[in-house]
Amino acid sequence: MLLWKDIMHYAVSGNPVPDRRVEKTEAEWKEVLTPEQFRITRKKGTERPHSGALCSIHEAGEYACVCCNSPLFDSTIKFESGTGWPSFTQPIKANAIKYEKDVSFGMVRVEVLCNTCDGHLGHVFPDGPAPSGLRYCINSESMKMITSD
Ligand SMILES: [Zn+2]
Repeated sequence: MLLWKDIMHYAVSGNPVPDRRVEKTEAEWKEVLTPEQFRITRKKGTERPHSGALCSIHEAGEYACVCCNSPLFDSTIKFESGTGWPSFTQPIKANAIKYEKDVSFGMVRVEVLCNTCDGHLGHVFPDGPAPSGLRYCINSESMKMITSD
């Protein structure tokens, strides 16, 4: 289980090695993503709270990167944070996600990206529920759901 100190270590000292890499040009991403998906994942955008299709879904399944289909989270680690964005306490596995310090908007935050394709997903905060204490706050538009049944 990842804890906040592990996240800080990744953000400062380097991320775990992903299983594979997917790299495309901006033009290639534009061809496969909707304009809103492109804005959020490739331009570090944020969707409006409570607007995302995956926010209130609690069916069993996996959440994959909308850009490259890599599994990122699953429904067993999803929780209702009340923020209006899908929220998770852990990644599906440690090397699925990469972390970068984000100092935009005058705040120090930790940005969460897909470790396979560098797509922007959201941010992670140290105010989530026990035992990890982590809250991954993720844009719905950055993910697609793969239901298990
Ligand atoms: Zn990806």
